[in-house]
Amino acid sequence: MKLLFERSVPGRKTQVLPPCDVETVEIPKEYKRLTLLPLPELSEVDVTRHYTELDHQVFGVNCGFYPLGSCTMKYNPRVDEETAALPGFTGIHPLAPASAVKGCEEILQTAKKDLCEISGMDDMTFQPAAGAHGEFTGVLLIKQYHDSRGDTARRKIIVPDSAHGTNPATASMCGFEVVNVASAPDGGIDLDALESVLGPDTAGLMLTNPNTLGLFDRNILKITSMVHEAGGLCYYDGANLNAVMGLVRPGDMGFDCVHMNLHKTFATPHGGGGPGAGAVGCKAFLAQFLPHSVLMDAKDGKPAPENAAIGHGGRIQVRGFAGNFLIVVRALTYILSLGKEGIPETAENAVLNANYLMHQLEDMYRVAYPRTCMHEFVLDLQDLKEETGCSALDVAKTLIDYGIHPPTMYFPLIVHEALMLEPTETESRETLDEAAEVFRKVYQLAHDDPDYVKASPHSTVIGRPDEVQASRHPVVKYG
Ligand SMILES: *Cc1c(COP(=O)(O)O)cnc(C)c1O
Repeated sequence: MKLLFERSVPGRKTQVLPPCDVETVEIPKEYKRLTLLPLPELSEVDVTRHYTELDHQVFGVNCGFYPLGSCTMKYNPRVDEETAALPGFTGIHPLAPASAVKGCEEILQTAKKDLCEISGMDDMTFQPAAGAHGEFTGVLLIKQYHDSRGDTARRKIIVPDSAHGTNPATASMCGFEVVNVASAPDGGIDLDALESVLGPDTAGLMLTNPNTLGLFDRNILKITSMVHEAGGLCYYDGANLNAVMGLVRPGDMGFDCVHMNLHKTFATPHGGGGPGAGAVGCKAFLAQFLPHSVLMDAKDGKPAPENAAIGHGGRIQVRGFAGNFLIVVRALTYILSLGKEGIPETAENAVLNANYLMHQLEDMYRVAYPRTCMHEFVLDLQDLKEETGCSALDVAKTLIDYGIHPPTMYFPLIVHEALMLEPTETESRETLDEAAEVFRKVYQLAHDDPDYVKASPHSTVIGRPDEVQASRHPVVKYG
C-alpha cells in the first residue's frame, strides 16, 4: 500500500482551524526552521482511508483467536473502556490538588485494596508502566531491604531456566549477579539444584508460578522457605495471574513481593506497545521502600505530604505520580464487574480452556510436559520437524492463513521447537474446536506439502520479515 508521503499532493489540505482570535507573536528568527518541514499534504478522507487500510492489516484480539502464550490475550470487555473514557478521569491533571481529585484517590485506594487481597500482599504501588518495570521496582525493593540492614554481601538473584527473559534482565539491571537454576524433569524447580546455589550471597529468587511451561510447582512452599532460610527474599513474577487469581495467592505461597500485569490479567488491551501497568505489591516489612504517591499514601481522607516524594526514608521512585492511572481504572472496573465469584471463575475457565485445547491437540502434537496444565501449555514440535522438515516457526506462520494468531514460539528456551498456547477464558468451546481443527489441518499439510508450509503465510502483505535485521537496524522514518 502507498504511504502517506506517496499520496501527498502539493497544496492539498483539510481546513479545520478557525481564524486565530488571539494576538500572534512573531517567533524569533533564531528559533525558526530554515526549511519547511516536509509533511505530506492530504485531505481528511486520504488520511482516514490510509489508517483504516492499516487497521485491516492488523490482527488483534477483536479479529480472532490469539493464543499467544504468556501474553494473556483475552477479550477486553467494553465496559472497562467506557469507564476509563469518562471525562472525570481523562480530564484531570497529575498536579491537580488532592482535594479536587477525591474520586481518583478512591479508585487508586480501592484498586490497591482489591489487588492486595488477590495477591496476598499488604501494600502496593501502581507506578511501574509495564511488567518488566514492575520487576525492576520489586527487585529494587529487595535491594533496599538488604542495603537498609547493611547486608550488602547479598549480590545474587536466582532465576530458573524456564523464566521469562525479563527476569534475568531485571536482576542484572538492578546490579545483581544472575544465577540460573535448572528445572527438574517434571518442569518444576530442581530442589537439589536450588539448595546448591543458596548461600549468604543470595539476595533473592524470582519465580513465576505457574511457570512459563504452564505448570504449577507443587514444591512452592518448600522453595520459598528454603530461600528465606538462606536469608533471601522471594519475588513473584505475576505477569499472568490468570490461572490463580481468586484461587491461590502469591503471598500465601511465601512470596514477599509481586508484580501483576494489569494489561494482561486485568483487561487492558495490549500487544501494540501501548501503555501498561505493572502493579507491585509487597508484604508490610517492605512497604517503607515503596514509591511515594500523594493519592496512594493518603490516610483517613488526608493526602500524604508532597515532600515525602523522592529519596525519603529509602523510598524508591520509578516513574511520576501514580503511574498509568487509566489502566488502574480499567482494572478496577474489571475486578468489580466480575466480583468475588467471577474472579476465581475466570481463572478456572482459563485453566479449563487450556486443558481442553491441550487434549484436543495431543494426538498430533507432542505436549512438552504432559500433565494437567494451568492457563497455558507448551507443544514440542521436534518430532514433526524430524518427520516433515517443518519447524515450529513454519507451523505458526501457516496458522496465520487460517485466521489464527501464532502462539508464542521458541519459548521457554528449554523446549527447542516450542509453541506455547494460552487460549484464555474468553474463548468459547466452538472457537477452541475450530482452532483444534486448524491445527489438525496444518499438521496434515506439513506431511502432505511441507514446502507450502515452509513458504507460509500466503495471505498476508508481508510474509517472513527478517526479524534480526528489523530489531537491530529498524528503519522507522520515511526517506
Ligand atoms: C509478559 C511477561 C513479563 C513482562 O511484562 P511486560 O509488560 O511485557 O514488560 C514478565 N514476565 C512474564 C512471565 C510475562 O509473561
